Amino acid sequence: MYHSPDTIAAIATAPGPGGIAVLRMSGPGALAVLLRVFRPLAPGGGEGERTFQPRPRYMHYGHVLDAQGRMLDDVLAVYMPGPHSATGEDVAEVHCHGGPGIVAALLASVFAAGARPAEPGEFTRRAFLHGRMDLTQAEAVAELIAAPTREGVRLAAAKREGGLSRQVKAVRETLDALRAQVLLAIDFPDEDAEFLSAAAFAHKVRDCSAALERLLAGFERARLWREGAVAVLAGRVNAGKSSLLNALLGRERAIVSPEPGTTRDYIEESINLDGLPVRLVDTAGLRQGGDVVEEEGIRRSEARAREADVVLFVADVRAPLQREERDFLCRRWPDLLQGRLVLVLNKIDCLCPQGGNASLSQDGCGSAPEGAFDEAAAAEGAGRAARAMLAAAAPQGTGEEALDRLVAQGPVFAVSATRRLGLEALSRGLRAAVCGAALPGDGPSSGDLAPNLRQSQLLREAGEELALLLRATEEGLAPEALGVHLDAAAALLDQVTGSSSTEELLDSIFASFCIGK
Ligand code: GDP
Repeated sequence: MYHSPDTIAAIATAPGPGGIAVLRMSGPGALAVLLRVFRPLAPGGGEGERTFQPRPRYMHYGHVLDAQGRMLDDVLAVYMPGPHSATGEDVAEVHCHGGPGIVAALLASVFAAGARPAEPGEFTRRAFLHGRMDLTQAEAVAELIAAPTREGVRLAAAKREGGLSRQVKAVRETLDALRAQVLLAIDFPDEDAEFLSAAAFAHKVRDCSAALERLLAGFERARLWREGAVAVLAGRVNAGKSSLLNALLGRERAIVSPEPGTTRDYIEESINLDGLPVRLVDTAGLRQGGDVVEEEGIRRSEARAREADVVLFVADVRAPLQREERDFLCRRWPDLLQGRLVLVLNKIDCLCPQGGNASLSQDGCGSAPEGAFDEAAAAEGAGRAARAMLAAAAPQGTGEEALDRLVAQGPVFAVSATRRLGLEALSRGLRAAVCGAALPGDGPSSGDLAPNLRQSQLLREAGEELALLLRATEEGLAPEALGVHLDAAAALLDQVTGSSSTEELLDSIFASFCIGK
């Protein structure tokens, strides 16, 4: 059993002024340090009894003293003896007023009284080392704190409850049972009685692989909820990409200018689409034959678009799919856009007879063509009308495959960035495009256990070992050969839960935590 020799202390609350701040201590000297710096006040206001012993898990009101023994602040203090504490050790907390000066003096006081500064993540690390949680749960603490949305919180909370570990351990137990079979086969090679037929053995291996696959699918789905999806705005110069970014953000961020080519680098902002965090990236306009800087901007747009979950390709509704746009859609980027293109026809206000408001038509909007659009239809999304306009611009059978596909079934939205028309439908479409078939419904599925990158890499490697094991089984290889793959897969799963871990692994995991966590 791990035994920590020293007592650590840190402020557990965020830095900066606040209503209260919480100082946390953990280790064998937590109570002694607390008694050195804390003086209880009796309910009537006077000093409490001289031989004060805090009642475990009860808040005590009193004063804390600075390193020189002078009264510093009135506080609440609580003592939580191990092993039934957060870290498994003796823990004490002091809740003081949240001023940076108070906090600094209080820390100095507890350091003078025998505690030492905690390293990043050291409280959680001690909880792990004392068996209060396994590694997936410890990592979930950091994920919970970093989760940007409610859904991210839900995923991290499920993992903190031990959901992921339970699934991994279930696979691990099956591997143990298979290992026992392999050992029997090694020890009793001449036995006729087969303990488990090769087919049954392979069946169990496949079950384990499927369980790992399910966990890995959860990683990809959860990535969106945890880290956010990336949506890149691309399109011709002056199509209104920056205006659309601003409209989706609901505030001015990108520079909007009638001068073509204003957004030469890219601008990135986050929005929250009903709980799904989306990073919107506004890129340089796509224009061929621009100067060197612009070419570089296009190259970067392309790089960003490659990493994106969705590309919002913005076109001016009055003249969509010009030569340059077709060039990008059909020749330069068709593979890149495959499966993640959302076409946005912007400036529909210019098509509305009543929408040609002079103040909005800075770039000289034309008047509405026959049978075009009305605002109410636009506000409702007007997907069909948008598609009809698109079909008019690019009649079926252009021979341009990507375009035909887009006209036939790609998501198309009609909006006005400046008049804020059709944005709700676009937001819904964007969310659907990001989530795609992978995320039906309104959030990550309740079964998602969201392994993080480290965990999913290990799960993937374990899956590869199981694939090799399956092949070895089918080829009828010697039990020793099967044992090698079984052991390798089991060792990888042990690293997920931390039942086998090295100092370096723990260092790398906990280094990303904050101090006080
Ligand atoms: P970008 O180069 O694609 O980023 O385009 P901008 O967002 O800078 O917009 C170019 C011009 O089009 C600016 O003058 C905008 O005011 C104008 N614009 C953008 N969106 C709309 C819109 O929905 N309706 C109208 N009438 N003008 C727009």
